[in-house]
Amino acid sequence: KSFEEAGIYDGFMTNLVKAHFEKPTPVQKYSIPIVMSGRDLMACAQTGSGKTAAFLLPVLTGMMKNGLTGSAFSDVQEPQALVVAPTRELALQIFNDARKFSHGTMLRPVVLYGGTSVGYQLKQVENGAHIVVGTPGRLIDVINKGKISLAKLKYLILDEADRMLDMGFGPDIKKIVHELGTPEKTERQTLMFSATFPEEIQKLAGDFLNDYLFLTV
Ligand code: AMP
Repeated sequence: KSFEEAGIYDGFMTNLVKAHFEKPTPVQKYSIPIVMSGRDLMACAQTGSGKTAAFLLPVLTGMMKNGLTGSAFSDVQEPQALVVAPTRELALQIFNDARKFSHGTMLRPVVLYGGTSVGYQLKQVENGAHIVVGTPGRLIDVINKGKISLAKLKYLILDEADRMLDMGFGPDIKKIVHELGTPEKTERQTLMFSATFPEEIQKLAGDFLNDYLFLTV
């Protein structure tokens, strides 16, 4: 099945062609229908498997469809999707992929990471962000400052969850999820990606996900 046949938003197709994405990789092939069905997902996938597009393409498609069928997209400036990633490099890579896929649409991705002044990043959020990609510490900072509204959030993605735990971000990601409300109490869809699936990750999946599907490639 092609990306088009999988139901990925038409407006992204020329961007995929430009990026030389011809057909879905295995993790994309299986995760796209799961994410589009609205189910929570725990996916075990390595870097290089195409895991970024495996969550970005169906999530951005969902956002375009919500935006186009609901109120005008430009009126919905609050983030609908939040991606949490362990490092600045990974956050930037996800942000750049989101920009690349959504090029030419109204959709605005914003990236938040530490080690640099927060002012410019906050300005980007204030200007309207539909998908926010961030590292745990800086995200908590911005949430604590009350500078970001997550009330409209429909998608939460935790990328490289095992690495986040290894780096000591466990308490931070728990804080972020707590801030958003437990999965049973929200309409939010949550996706977790991890290269490995040790006990601590199984525990997080149990706590953060609601009636989830498990995918390993
Ligand atoms: P990732 O695992 O998300 O870091 O992706 C690894 C690399 O594969 C990145 O450079 C992607 O741009 C590329 N890639 C991902 N999916 C595809 C695809 N379906 N076709 C061609 N390249 C892809």
